[in-house]
Parts: sequence; structure tokens; C-alpha cells
Amino acid sequence: MNIEQLYQHFKECTTACTDTRKIDKNSLFFALKGDNFNGNEFASIALEAGAKYCVVDEKRYAIDQRYLLVENVLETLQNLATFHRDKLAIPVIALTGSNGKTTTKELINAVLSKKYKTTATIGNLNNHIGVPLTLLRMNEATEIGIVEMGANHPKEIGLLAAIAHPDYGLITNFGKAHLEGFGSIEGVIKAKSELYDYLMANLKTIFVNENDPLQVQQTQNYDKVFKFGLRTSTDTMLEIINTQPYVTLSYNGSVIKSQLTGTYNFNNIAVAIAVGSYFKIEPNHIKNAIEDYTPTNNRSQILKKGSNTIIMDAYNANPTSMMAALENFKQLNQGGKMIFLGDMFELGKTAESEHQSIVDYLEQNELGKVHLIGKNFYKTNVTHSNIQKFETFEALKLNLQQHPIKDSFLLIKGSRGMALERILELL
Ligand code: ATP
Ligand code: MG
Repeated sequence: MNIEQLYQHFKECTTACTDTRKIDKNSLFFALKGDNFNGNEFASIALEAGAKYCVVDEKRYAIDQRYLLVENVLETLQNLATFHRDKLAIPVIALTGSNGKTTTKELINAVLSKKYKTTATIGNLNNHIGVPLTLLRMNEATEIGIVEMGANHPKEIGLLAAIAHPDYGLITNFGKAHLEGFGSIEGVIKAKSELYDYLMANLKTIFVNENDPLQVQQTQNYDKVFKFGLRTSTDTMLEIINTQPYVTLSYNGSVIKSQLTGTYNFNNIAVAIAVGSYFKIEPNHIKNAIEDYTPTNNRSQILKKGSNTIIMDAYNANPTSMMAALENFKQLNQGGKMIFLGDMFELGKTAESEHQSIVDYLEQNELGKVHLIGKNFYKTNVTHSNIQKFETFEALKLNLQQHPIKDSFLLIKGSRGMALERILELL
């Protein structure tokens, strides 16, 4: 079946899906293969659950006209997404970066939704399957698409850009994340810049944060840029009023008080304001959208538990975002500061030195009592008596049972696998 024919079938469906546990009625099911499963085997279940058609790539499963046989289901999903996206011919904004993609995507969506009907990535569905599914969720009513793109290996962003055909794009930052797959920070810069490569090759617009020298450097010979930042030369001029505990800034003569903490979130907010101003959203609507946005899912949420206040940043961690969180915590003018840091994963050969760098920083900066949790941190050299190491979460738990925490201001941050939000139950 060719893409044009498949598209006609897709038009009869409500949406596309890939998970038999979450089938929408009258949807188009894509029977993807994984390392440990063959989606073709679940095609009939998808139909029973309400799918209208199933795209399969093994002939023996295509037993009646509800099964649409193609050569490769994954490639077909991606090709159909591109075909559909091109037919709609609406502006699509793509964003990638090492940190802050989802937060920035949500902020952009909040701002643009004030005037346009948008379709944005749901949650964190930002890979070679999530991006096509996001594009296929756009429909005739959609006026702007907002697509988060994630990667942990070279060439992935290039592929996602080739699928989504974005008209606009931005990179939140270049940081030390997924070093295992990218090799080094140079590897990160090259891989993330695949989005710039696509945009430049197709003469599309790039939003550039003037305060980030790497963004400026990577786009220096390109004209189609919309600049934002703290400088007067930019297209959107912003001023930081405060970042503690919440980012407050001035834009277009009015003060925006966000519910996000940290200088790093200033950057995320700045992108959303720039995109909003480019798409002619009224300044007071931009202000309202930013002020109403609250972080979710342990992404730098400020919480209260008993007599303690917590910056809960347990969603994920890598050397760049951990340093950003520590710098932010250092600037906080609060008594009773206490830190809980969990291991950072996916660092490959740099794991040892990156964990030691964090410890070195903690030894040189007075940030209150520190708890380090996990095998990587356990291997670091610590001399300061204020810093305690725990090889496992259980060991930390025992310690906290013996020494309950009261009247403190906590920072909790670690990789997803460490699930440090569990600390809340111990307070
Ligand atoms: P993922 O790789 O899981 O998709 P992401 O890039 O979408 O992550 P977010 O989910 O928005 O990132 O934020 C995760 C955490 O990253 C935040 O809780 C915060 O600690 C940190 N962070 C957010 N923005 C930045 C930034 N601009 N610079 C450094 N760290 C940031
Ligand atoms: Mg994300």
C-alpha cells in the first residue's frame, strides 16, 4: 500500500495509535516492532479494542481488508506523519536541547494558545515514534504545531527534523546530558545543531537566545534569526528582576511573576515570550499565560511538607542541570538549607569525573548539609564533614528515621531512575 492510499484510510480514522492498551475508537493502529515484541501479533487485539485499521508489515497477519500491509511499519508511521504535516501546511515549531525542552514547550503552548488553536507534544513523547504521533494529532483545526524533539545519539534530531519539516526552531541549551551516546559536549553541540542544519538548509527561522554564546556561535552566519535576551539589540528585550525563589522579569514595560524557580527557567520563559511576540500575541496575554503556568511532575516544583519547604527537582538530572540547580540554590537567601542529590545516569566514561566535579563544587561552596545517594556518588572523594554519602536509598532512609528533618529548605535532585521524590514520604 502506498502512502497516498494509506492517507485516505487515515482520513477515515480519528487518530493514530501504537499501544493496544490505549486504543482510541476508530483509530489507525501501527503495529510497531520492539526489541522484545512484534506488534503484528497484537493487531487483532487492537481491532477488537476499537481500532478501525491496523498497519502491519508481515503478510501472514494481513487477513482481511482492515489490515493494511506495508513494508515497514515504523517508516510508514514516519512517512505518513510527514505527508499529513505537509498537506496541512501550517507553521510547525520544533524545539530540542539538553534541558528544559518540556518546560519550554509547555510555556510556548500556553502563550500561543491565547490566540491560536495549537497541537503540541503531549508530555515527553519526543522520539522517533512520539514525534510522528504528535504530527498525526494535528488536524484541520490546528493553526500551529509545537513539537518537542529528544535525542541521545547523533543523527536522531536530523531524522526528527526531516520527519516534522519545521518552519521554526530553537535549541533550549547545549549541556552535558546523555554523554554516553554523544561522547562529549562537542558531540552534544553537533547533534543538537542538526536542528539548525535542517532550518538553515531550508531557510527557516531560528529563535536565538542572545545570552547563550553557543547559540549565537552556531547561528552566526545565518540571517533568518529572531533574537531575544537581555540585550537592547535583540528583537525581544527582557530584564530579569529576580529569580529567587520565583523568576520575575520585565517585558514590554510590565512585570511578569512566574511560578518557576531558577535562572535556568528564566531562559525557558524568555523563549516563550520571544515566540509569543513573534506570533503577535498581546503582551498582557503573554504575561497571563506565563504567570498561570505551574511546573508538574517534579520539575523544579516548590512544595511544602510539614515544617519543610522543598525544591523538588527529582524528574531528571545531568551535570549541566545539576549545576544549574545548585547555583540557583546557592543564591537562595534562606536559612536551614539542605541538599539531597542522587546519581546522574547515562554519562558513560565521564561518570566518575562528573560526579566528582559536583562534589568538588559542594566542597568549595557553603550550601548547608548535603546527602549524596547512589553508587556513583558513593565512589567520590569527600573530605567535608557536612557531606554524607549513602550507597543506597535504604541507607538514606535509615539515616532520616534517626535524624528527622524539620524547619529546613531542601533541594532534591537526581536522575529519573533514582526516584528521589520518595524522600517526601520520609519527611
Ligand atoms: P527530557 O530529556 O526528559 O525530555 P527536558 O529537556 O524536557 O527533559 P524538562 O522536563 O523541561 O527538560 O526539565 C527537566 C529538568 O531540567 C528541570 O526540572 C530542571 O531541573 C532542569 N532544567 C530545565 N530547564 C533548564 C535549562 N534551561 N537549563 C538547565 N537545566 C534546566
Ligand atoms: Mg522532555
